[in-house]
Amino acid sequence: MHQEKTVHCDTCGKQVSYHFNPVNHWKNLFITILTFGIWLPMWLIMTFSPTKMCDECNEPIWDNK
Ligand SMILES: [Zn+2]
Repeated sequence: MHQEKTVHCDTCGKQVSYHFNPVNHWKNLFITILTFGIWLPMWLIMTFSPTKMCDECNEPIWDNK
């Protein structure tokens, strides 16, 4: 396993390697029920466009392209 992909992290101010935050579907199901479905679009966004997380500071990295 060799990961060469890096992205620029605004928090660290440098190129960093990243990982994807695994979506906790049980937690999202719980929130969706709790909010009467209002959370559902957020859940879908998280599932289909996973957020890159910085390996160094663990903050989400947003691609502003
Ligand atoms: Zn960082």
